Amino acid sequence: MSGSAKHEDAARPSAIARFGRTELDVLVMGITYAAIILFVGNGGAVFSKTIIAAQGLGFGPDRLLSTALLLNIAIVMFGWTRYGKLHAELNEHRQAEEVARQLAETDPLTGCLNRRSMRQATENLIEGATGRGEAVAVIMIDIDKFKLINDINGHAVGDRLLCECAERSRLLLPPGALLARLGGDEFACVVPFNPRRPEQIDHFAAALIRSVSAPMSVAGYEGHVTASLGISRSDGVRQPGDLMPADPQATPATPDHLLHMADIAMYQAKKQGRNQYLWFEGEMATELRYRNELENAIRLGIAEHEFVPYYEQQIDLLSGELVGFEMLARWQSPKLGMIGPEVFIPIAEEIGVIGELSESVIAQALHDARDWHPRLTLSVNISPVQLRDPWFAQKILKMLVAANFPPNRLDIEITESSLHQNIAGVHALITSLKNQGVGISLDDFGTGYSSLAQLRNLPFDRLKIDRSFVMSMVKDKDSASIVQIISSLGESFGLPMTAEGIESPEILEKLSTIGKFKGQGYLYGKPAPAADVVSMLAVRKLLVVDAGAGRSLGTGDGKDVVPGSLRRSA
Ligand code: C2E
Ligand code: MG
Ligand code: MG
Repeated sequence: MSGSAKHEDAARPSAIARFGRTELDVLVMGITYAAIILFVGNGGAVFSKTIIAAQGLGFGPDRLLSTALLLNIAIVMFGWTRYGKLHAELNEHRQAEEVARQLAETDPLTGCLNRRSMRQATENLIEGATGRGEAVAVIMIDIDKFKLINDINGHAVGDRLLCECAERSRLLLPPGALLARLGGDEFACVVPFNPRRPEQIDHFAAALIRSVSAPMSVAGYEGHVTASLGISRSDGVRQPGDLMPADPQATPATPDHLLHMADIAMYQAKKQGRNQYLWFEGEMATELRYRNELENAIRLGIAEHEFVPYYEQQIDLLSGELVGFEMLARWQSPKLGMIGPEVFIPIAEEIGVIGELSESVIAQALHDARDWHPRLTLSVNISPVQLRDPWFAQKILKMLVAANFPPNRLDIEITESSLHQNIAGVHALITSLKNQGVGISLDDFGTGYSSLAQLRNLPFDRLKIDRSFVMSMVKDKDSASIVQIISSLGESFGLPMTAEGIESPEILEKLSTIGKFKGQGYLYGKPAPAADVVSMLAVRKLLVVDAGAGRSLGTGDGKDVVPGSLRRSA
């Protein structure tokens, strides 16, 4: 139950009790008024008779009347006391209701309005602003990488940090504006403004970003956070450079609609590098819709086995022999056509399905590779997200056992950029895989700034020189020098090397002057589906062929020397 609901419930029984007592109190007050009237009617006669009797000038008042008067006085006093108490009680209830209302409307951590009350308050602001010929800007604020800060420093620090951000924002609020916390690290400001002067909102947004990102010292946390902002306006979409509202006649948007638009703009601000604000523009919604469709299609595609392995040949450049294949995932989407990994891998990582996707294509690849000659290896790529999975090594071993595939024929490629995160975890993972006989290569070397210490400490079996250097090494001297340097580095660490991106015989020739490499690239053919690989291996007699109950080997008699290899070109 939410805090506000709890408080509403707490207020409810007292309201019911008050209702019962109110009827009683009306009765009490009625009797008291009757007593007062009787007192006024009787009192004069009884008092005057009492005074006359006290002076010895006559008889005292009638006994019955005196008793009635005393009773009257008692009732009046009782009524009066009850009236005082009732008054105090009413005040108490009023205060309790005020507290309950406030708690129901505000966020208990930061004291800002909560999402529910913000909606109503925004509606009122829009109504007021429209009446005055003004507009309202809804500014969505999200702290960048807050989850990470929270996880690393603990929730107590996270909470203090949110309070500090709320306080800093509150101090900047223009008159008539409101600040709400929508949940987690999401805040929203609603600011009325002159639609002809949207730059007021630009200034406010820039000031908010500056203020939130100033150094912070809270609960032992010393550092700074940044925020991304998205802005929508109640009178239409803002075009860049506009001084006029897009459509002054447009019906003002609803609070939910405005929040949604601001949210889309905020998402774009994050995507474009964070720590900035963006106004909502129409195309953003289209892009977001496309992105949502893509996410759903990826999820569905995994279930429907639309992700398939393609294979790129890996060649021993000295002998020209085919030594194995790198598996590269492809998405055969019935709706979108053939899609490459550069598109779907980052999305799959972000929406948390990369593990599932990767395991499905690796399992297919292990199954395919069982039919290849046993000297042919299979390389697979691993996302940095998978490296954080503590069960990853076990999952790979389970797949190897399920496919009955020898671990020493499997090579796992880890990109250089993934070494920056969780180096201890990566070390443990590599060691555990290597202990089972699986090979580990450092992929895309030269692009990720790994340190020499990492190269020495992490037990890699191979370095793969990034294709960007190899592809351009004939035309670009710098690239050639980089390949040269990486080659010397590999040699001094005793690490064998693979050059990626061999596109032409000239590149191959140049590589032969630098060192000993394995290689891969379009010169040897583009990545191909499993069936094409089988046909190619069948021609070269590099397939394991089913012969009755047992399996026998093709001869692999050297006829697999491929065009463009060093042996041929030598
Ligand atoms: P990578 O591991 O460096 O793979 C090599 C990429 O270079 C492949 O692109 C390949 O098609 C391309 N390539 C090979 N030879 C040449 C050439 O001569 N010239 C040019 N211009 N390009 C060449 P692809 O298939 O688009 O893969 C891109 C990246 O996506 C891969 O880079 C790899 O990091 C990643 N990837 C592919 N499949 C998977 C997967 O199953 N899981 C994960 N986590 N990543 C994958
Ligand atoms: Mg690779
Ligand atoms: Mg690579």
